[in-house]
Formats: sequence, structure tokens, C-alpha cells
Amino acid sequence: MKSRIILLGPPGAGKGTHAKSLTVTMQIPHISTGDMLRDAVSRGTKLGISAQEYMQAGKLVPDHLVNGIVAERLAEEKKGFLLDGYPRTVAQADYLEAAGEKIDAVVLLDADDDCLISRITGRLSCPSCGAVFHKKNKLPKKDDICDSCSGELIQRPDDNETVVRQRLNAYHAQTQPLIAYYEERGLLCRVDGACDVEEGFEAIKSVLGL
Ligand code: AMP
Repeated sequence: MKSRIILLGPPGAGKGTHAKSLTVTMQIPHISTGDMLRDAVSRGTKLGISAQEYMQAGKLVPDHLVNGIVAERLAEEKKGFLLDGYPRTVAQADYLEAAGEKIDAVVLLDADDDCLISRITGRLSCPSCGAVFHKKNKLPKKDDICDSCSGELIQRPDDNETVVRQRLNAYHAQTQPLIAYYEERGLLCRVDGACDVEEGFEAIKSVLGL
């Protein structure tokens, strides 16, 4: 079974949503650098303090800060992993390769910018359990309350349109080159990130042979 997987794609393409389902189906951990960095920011650690200004501006956190936390985390994982939001630059992918981390598949979820902007700017996130809702397409049963854990839903500070556009610019300039990088290594599987969640999940299972 393919068990060392990278989920690649722009913000809002569904990496986090699908990772949450895949982690249950495959029984391997979901490792999201965005979640790890948000946790560091909320705890006010040295890393969080350094990362915060980049995240608020929709820019990528410098490679040396992110590589360190991923290396530590992957060293703990023996059964496999779903990497969500890492690598995001060619330097990060080179770092992963140099660290000897073998990758079985890279699933690229893609969608056009207009679709991603409307998805992200309507997104409501649960900081407690990570569940995601949408102001139009996936309303919680009770206003602003998470269906899964009853936590209070928030709009992530970097989910407003100005910051989302900057995040998309960062994706196109710094992350998109990874498509060719993993295509050359014969690892890339493409899945439509614009379709509905169930369809997308079936497509991912199919490319992973699940
Ligand atoms: P995400 O939750 O994956 O959309 O990430 C939120 C923010 O965290 C991004 O806009 C970046 O500022 C930062 N971030 C997450 N992962 C990385 C990474 N691999 N490299 C650099 N910055 C990252």
C-alpha cells in the first residue's frame, strides 16, 4: 500500500479536508505544517513568533523554520504519513529527499483561482478539532458552532480576500514548480480539486489504489 503521501495543491483545493478522511481510511497520521505553525503561534513559542508575520501576510514561512519541525515529526512516524502543505518549495522538497524520506505518491489537487477564492473566503474553521464549514455550501447546524466538537467556529485571519490572493501568488511562484519536480520522479497523480468533496475523495482513493 502507498503510505508515504504528499498532498500538493493551492490553498482551498481540499488538501486538509481530504487528509482528514484519508487518515481514518488509511490509519496513518495527517501532518499539516499549517496546523503545526498555527499551534506554535497560539502557544506563543519562538517558532510561532517568527512565523506569525509571514502567515498574516500570506507569505511562506522561511524554509529553515519549517524544515526543522517536519524533520522532527517525520522521525516519529514509522507506518507512513499524509503530508499536507509540505513541501511548498523546491528547497523543502530537496530537504525531504536529502533526509532520505521515501515518497510513494504525490496527489495534486488543483482548481482555478476564482473557485479557490470563493471557497476560502467563505470558510469557517474550528480551531479545536480542525473541522471546516462554509458560509454558503456547508453550514453548521447551529450558527458558528462546530457540529463535531461544539467549539466556536472562526474565520481564519489569513482567509480574507487580500491575504488569499497573496497566498495564491506564493503558491504559483514558489509551490507550482513542485508539479514538474514530482512528475519527473514519476510520483505525481492529478485529481480535480474543483469537484464536490465525495467525488474528489473517490478520485483520490482510486489514484492511491485504495
Ligand atoms: P495552510 O494551512 O497549509 O494553508 O498554511 C497556512 C500558512 O502557514 C501558509 O500561508 C504559510 O504562511 C504557512 N505555511 C504552512 N506550510 C508551510 C510550508 N511548508 N512552508 C512555508 N510556509 C508554510
